[in-house]
Formats: sequence, C-alpha cells, structure tokens
Amino acid sequence: MKNGEIIAVGSEILLGQITNTNAKFISEHLAKIGINVYYHTVVGDNPNRLLNAVKVAETRADLIIFTGGLGPTKDDLTKETLANHLGVNLEYDEKALRSIENFFAKRNQPMTENNKKQALIFSGSQCLPNDTGMAPGMFLTKNNRTYILLPGPPSEMQPMFTTYAIPEILKGIENVEQIESRVLRFYGIGESKLEVELEDLIDTQTNPTIAPLAVDGEVTVRITAKHALDDERKHLLDETEEKILVRVGKYLYGYNETTIVNEMGKLLQQKNLTLAVAESLTGGLFQEEVTSIAGCSKWFKGGIVSYAPEVKINNLGVKKETIENHGVVSEECAKEMAENVRKLMDTDFGLSFTGVAGPGSLEGKEPGTVYIGVSVKNKPTKGYYVNLFGNRESVRVRSVKHGAWLVYN
Ligand code: ATP
Ligand code: MG
Repeated sequence: MKNGEIIAVGSEILLGQITNTNAKFISEHLAKIGINVYYHTVVGDNPNRLLNAVKVAETRADLIIFTGGLGPTKDDLTKETLANHLGVNLEYDEKALRSIENFFAKRNQPMTENNKKQALIFSGSQCLPNDTGMAPGMFLTKNNRTYILLPGPPSEMQPMFTTYAIPEILKGIENVEQIESRVLRFYGIGESKLEVELEDLIDTQTNPTIAPLAVDGEVTVRITAKHALDDERKHLLDETEEKILVRVGKYLYGYNETTIVNEMGKLLQQKNLTLAVAESLTGGLFQEEVTSIAGCSKWFKGGIVSYAPEVKINNLGVKKETIENHGVVSEECAKEMAENVRKLMDTDFGLSFTGVAGPGSLEGKEPGTVYIGVSVKNKPTKGYYVNLFGNRESVRVRSVKHGAWLVYN
C-alpha cells in the first residue's frame, strides 16, 4: 500500500452545506504513516457518478477510502454500489447486528428493517466496529487493492479510523516510514522576508522539508521529517529547527497549535502579572480570545469596549481635548485608553486598541490604520502605530494579534 485516495460521498458536501473535514482528518493520519494521498474526490449520492469516481481512483491508487453513505436511508448507496462493482455479496455481520439491536433496545424503540441493513457487510471483508454509532465500516482487499468504507459522521468515522482501520493498514505496509511535523510560529516578520532568510535551507532541504505559510499577519514554518524510527525523526526535526532559529529565532513565539494571545497569557502568568484592556475597533475580540483560554482569570482582570468617542471620555476618562486635537484614531488616544484602563482595573499592564477597521475611512485615516497603547506600571506609557492589511475582519484579527505580541515582548 502506497498511494491513497479518499472518496467522500455526499451531495451535502457538493452543495456547500458541510465541509469535507473527513478527508482532512484521514489525510493527516495517512501522512503520518507515510502513505501518499494524491487525490481527494467528492461525489454526490448518485450511484453512476460514484461508480465513475471509483473507476478513476482505481487507476491511480491502491488504497481507496470512502466516507459517507453507509446509513439506513435511501440515499445511502455506497455499499450497494461498491458491492456490485467488486462482485461481492452482502452478508450480515452478527456482531454488528447485535449491536444495532442493542442500540434500539436500550432506547426502547422498535428496529425497522432498513436499520438492519446497516449490519450488512461485504463477504470476505473485515468488519470495522462502530463504537459510537450504528453502521459498521469495512476493510476489504481485492485485486491487490484495499477498500475501506467508513461512515460519514466525524464522531463515528474518526474513532473507527484510528482504532480499527489504521492498524489494518499498517499490517499491509513494510518498513513504515512515519512522518512527523512540527510547526514553528513567528510574529513580527513578513513571509517574504522569512523566505529570503531561509531560502537556501528551503531549497536544499529534502528531509525534513521546510514549508513557510502566512496566515493573518503571522508566519508559520512547518518542518516535516520522514523516518522509520521515532528518535531519528525527532533528531531530524530538532536539527532543522536549530538551523532555522539561528536566523529568525527572535521572531519565534510558539509551536504547533498555540496562538500569540495564548503565549502572552502564559508569560503573564509565569511572571505573576495582570492585564486589562480597552477596546475600540476590536469591539471585544481581544477579550473573546483571552477568555476562551482556560485559567485566564489568573492574569486577566477585565476590559472595556469603548466604541463611541463619548464612552472613551465618560467611562474611560480619555480627555476631551485629546480627542478634539488628535482624533480617536491617534497615538495620544491609545495611550490614554491603555493607561486609564490599567488604573481603573488596578493591573500591571493596560492595553488598548483604536483605529480604522474599514471599509470606510475615519477622521481622514485609511482602513488598517491602528494605534495600540501599552501601559506598564511605573513606566512611561507607549503608543504604537501599525498599518494593517486586509478587510474589516482581518484588520480586527490582526490588531488583536499585534496587541498581544506587544505585551509578549
Ligand atoms: P448516517 O448513518 O448518519 O446516515 P452515513 O454513513 O450514511 O451516516 P452520510 O449520510 O453520508 O453518512 O452523512 C451523515 C452526516 O455525516 C452528514 O450529514 C454530515 O454531517 C457528516 N458527514 C458526511 N460526510 C462528511 C465529510 N466528508 N466530512 C465531514 N462530515 C461529513
Ligand atoms: Mg446517511
């Protein structure tokens, strides 16, 4: 087994009603065990088109994984269509049948005939138990190809795939070359500058590979190592990370799934410091991000959303003259907001956001013009001007990250 293809069955995916997260999940796991996935196919609940998709997949893959269409309803056609195509019979799997009967007995509901149909599996296939639902999956090897059928709902598909399908796949692979990735997260350096800094490494490195990616004002670098041994993979990743950090280490803020707001919080907590925030253009987005972090109460005290100028004056104590002379989109206003909220909530740090999210301009200033104030106890309050790129949503998201980064530094 070397080349995989995933066929997601379901008209709702083609209609844009749901996202094909199953393909993402399965691909990630196959990558880890060194199986190449060159194609994702999505096909509606239509037997002819499904059959065509299978025939095409058979020309280019020796592992074909289906998700969806295993349920009891009329539009669930994956099983019948494939059984026909492969020339196999459908037979009841006794264990699966018992488990479906139990499912209904427990709920005191009668079992209908179409529900029984879910326990039908291909003759000669291995049943993949469904621990979180009813329809079992299947694992069948025929004509040197492996076919795996999985249910559509991610809550059923995911545990079935990792618990039962992956071990079966592994049996069919010799010398498993596992893949492992590490994501380095950077802030304060643009994608192009980072690429220039790492250009020769990116071009010459084949194992691990180095892949930069820019998302909403930050840059990540994914390093991916391939090796059969866990230790050797780790060694390869460490070595490459070191080479990268010699060049751009000062911009690194974290690894893998973390965020800059999260890292800022960790640092504040470590140092036993507290934070308060005054938000204008971000309208509470910073506080939303902060309070989604469990345990943030140890370092976050609260905030004020002061959107209208009079709220900045009346509730936050920004001087009227400051706004008259400099406008709300100004360094002066940002500084007063940060300092006042810090005093108001008696914290070590005060942070503020004021600016133009767009699409229109404000006070003659272009969308993306943002001022961030940072006030630290016993230090002069600072104001930072940033020019952020993107639409309204993106400017707001980037403001939040930039503010967190300023506190983090
Ligand atoms: P069921 O027994 O629930 O009918 P099934 O195997 O027949 O399961 P489908 O009917 O195709 O699966 O899909 C059921 C639900 O599973 C969908 O409405 C959708 O919410 C989810 N689903 C299906 N395919 C995918 C996919 N590729 N990615 C993410 N979710 C999916
Ligand atoms: Mg269904």
